[in-house]
Amino acid sequence: MGFLHESEPMSWEQSKSVLKYVREHGIEQFLSVLRTCGATNGDPFKWGDEVEHQVFRLIPGATGPEVVAALRSPEILAELREKEEQLQASGAEGCAWMPEFGRWMLESTPGKPYEGLAAAATAEAQLSLRRRRLRASLQPDEVAPTVTAFPLLGVGETQVRGPVLDSLFLPDESIFPHPRFPTLARNIRERRGGKVEIRRPKMKDVQSLPVETSNAVPQTIEEADALDHVYADAMPFGMGSSCLQVTMQASSIEESRRLYDQLAPLTPVLLALTAATPFLRGWICHRVFFLASTTPLRKSRYDSVDCYISEDSAQFNDLPMVFEAGHLDQLLHAGVDEVLAKHIAHLFARDPLVIFADRVELDDSRDIDHWENLQSTNWQSLRWKPPPPHKGQLSNEDADHIGWRVEFRSMELQMTDFENAAFISFIILVSRAILDLKLDLRIPMSKVEENMTVASRRSACTKELLWFRTNPLEDASEAKYQLMSVYEILNGNEVFEGLIPLCRSYLDSQTLDSTTRQSFEEYLNFITFRSAGALPTAAEWMRSFVMAHPSYKRDGRVPAAAAHDLMAAAEKIGLGEMQGTELLGPFSALASVEPSLRAKAREVLLSEHCRHLTARHACQ
Ligand code: ADP
Ligand code: MG
Ligand code: MG
Ligand code: MG
Ligand code: MG
Repeated sequence: MGFLHESEPMSWEQSKSVLKYVREHGIEQFLSVLRTCGATNGDPFKWGDEVEHQVFRLIPGATGPEVVAALRSPEILAELREKEEQLQASGAEGCAWMPEFGRWMLESTPGKPYEGLAAAATAEAQLSLRRRRLRASLQPDEVAPTVTAFPLLGVGETQVRGPVLDSLFLPDESIFPHPRFPTLARNIRERRGGKVEIRRPKMKDVQSLPVETSNAVPQTIEEADALDHVYADAMPFGMGSSCLQVTMQASSIEESRRLYDQLAPLTPVLLALTAATPFLRGWICHRVFFLASTTPLRKSRYDSVDCYISEDSAQFNDLPMVFEAGHLDQLLHAGVDEVLAKHIAHLFARDPLVIFADRVELDDSRDIDHWENLQSTNWQSLRWKPPPPHKGQLSNEDADHIGWRVEFRSMELQMTDFENAAFISFIILVSRAILDLKLDLRIPMSKVEENMTVASRRSACTKELLWFRTNPLEDASEAKYQLMSVYEILNGNEVFEGLIPLCRSYLDSQTLDSTTRQSFEEYLNFITFRSAGALPTAAEWMRSFVMAHPSYKRDGRVPAAAAHDLMAAAEKIGLGEMQGTELLGPFSALASVEPSLRAKAREVLLSEHCRHLTARHACQ
C-alpha cells in the first residue's frame, strides 16, 4: 500500500482542481524512478507474502450462538506493533503488521523479505508464527481464522446509512479509522455520483423464496433481499475480503516485465484453485469473484490486468485500452517504449482518489506520492512495482535497496498455514522455473480475461476449462493454446507437459537439501490433489459446512449459528486444534506435524495416496 499520511485528505470536491496535476506529476515521478533505477541489474531474488487477517467475536447469545466482526483492529495493531518491537529487540524472528480497509482487519507480512528459492520451506513456520502472535493479542472471545470474508458481513447492523458509506447494510464504523480509508470510500461514492453496486448470483435451494429479476437499486434491505441476486452497496464488501499476495523481486526491470507477463496467464488458474468466498451478505452465492463492468472504462479498478508490459508482448495485447493521449506522449517523449507507456497511461486514466492537502506540490525527482496514488488504487490481479525511494532518495546504490518487483494478487486466502504456504511456494517455484527454463505462457490477453470470468464460477477448479498455452518452449510467434482443465494445466496432457512437471525439472536442476525438496513435493502434491477434485476448495468446504448445519433452512441463507460454528471451526483448523481431514485429506495429518519432523511422515502418507490418485486419473 502507498503511504499513510496523517494529514488532512481532500474531499472529492476539493480534489477536482488538482486531479490533472496529480496525474501529470505522477507520471513524472514514475519517469524519475525509471531514470534513477532503470539500469539496475543483478538484484537478488527476494520475495514476501501478505496475509489479510479478519477478527471476529464469538457470542453465546440468548437465542443461540452468534458471531460478529470485532471492530478492534486499531487496538490490536497497536499492541502487536509494540510487542513486535520488544521481540525484535531481543533477537526474535520478526513479523510486520499493517492496517487494512476494514476495522476488523489487519495485514501481516514477514518482518523482512525472504531471499532465494529454498526459503519457501520456511514460509509455513512464519505464517504460523504470525497466526500465534495475532492470537496472543486477541481477547478470549475473539478469533482470527484466515478466511477470505465474513459470511454475515452487513447482516443485522443497526447504525447504517452513515455519511461515508450511506450503506443500507453497514455502519461507517466498519472502516479502519485512518483518514485514508474513509476518504477513499467517500470519494469513490461522490465521484461516481452513487453507491458502488455489487451483484452476485444467489444459490437457489428448495426453500428459497420467489425472487424478482431486476437491476434497480434497492432502497431497503427487504427490497434488496427480494432480488434474484445478492446486492451489496459499499466498499467493505470488496475491500473487506482477504487475499493472499506474493511479491517477488526481479534482477532487472526487463526481468520484472517478463515475469509480470508470464504470471498473467496464471492469475485465473490460481483464482480457481484457491476459491474461498462462497458467501456474500449472509447469502450463499454461485460465484467467488465478481467482474463488475459499470464504468466508462469497461472494467473497474478492482479487476484483472488489461495488458502485458514487455516490449515484445504487443502482439498479445488485444484488449481495448483507455488512456489520455497527453499521458502517452509524456511517456513516449521520455523514451518509454510503447507497450510499457500504454500500461502506465492506462493506470493513469483513473482519477486519484485520496489526495493529502499538504502533499500536492512535491519534488518529482524524489517524491513518488502521485505515482503511488494511482498505482495503489488500481487493485488488479497483478501489480508491477517499480523501486520505492530508499532512505528518502530514489537510488539503487545502497546494497539493500528495493528493486523491480511483481506482485501476484489473484489468490484467495486459505484456512490453514499449510495451504497458504503451498500456494506461496508454488508461485515462487513456478516463477523461478519460468525464468530459468525460458518458458513462454503468453496467450492473447482477451483469453486471459475470458479465463478470469470462467475461473470465478462455482467449482471452476474442477468443472471449467481455461485457455492455456500448449507450447511454452516455442517462439511467441508460434504460440498455440487450447482449453484445458486446471488439472491438465498443472499436471499435463497429451499436448502440454504441465506446470508441475516443469517445476520438478527445474527443482532437479537446483541444489536443495532434501527437507526443502520434500516440502516442495508436499505442496505440489497437495495442489495436484486439489486440482483433481480429490480435495475440496475452501469455498466448497464452507458451502457444505453451512448447508449441512442443523440451523440451515435450505433457503440459501447463512444462519447465525452456522456462521458462528464455521468461524469457530476455521479458527481451530487454522491453529491445528482440529484436524481438517475433509479439507486436507492425507495432508491434514502432515499439517499438524512440526515442519522439521515431517520428512518421514510425508514419505509414508504421500506415496500411498499418490498411488491412489494416479490410479483414479488413469481410469477416467
Ligand atoms: P504492498 O502492500 O504495497 O503490496 P508491502 O509493503 O505490504 O507491499 O510488502 C509486500 C511484500 O513484499 C512483503 O511480503 C514484503 O516482505 C515483501 N518485500 C519487501 N521488500 C522486498 C523486496 N526487495 N523484494 C521482494 N519482496 C519484498
Ligand atoms: Mg501490504
Ligand atoms: Mg492488503
Ligand atoms: Mg485488501
Ligand atoms: Mg500487497
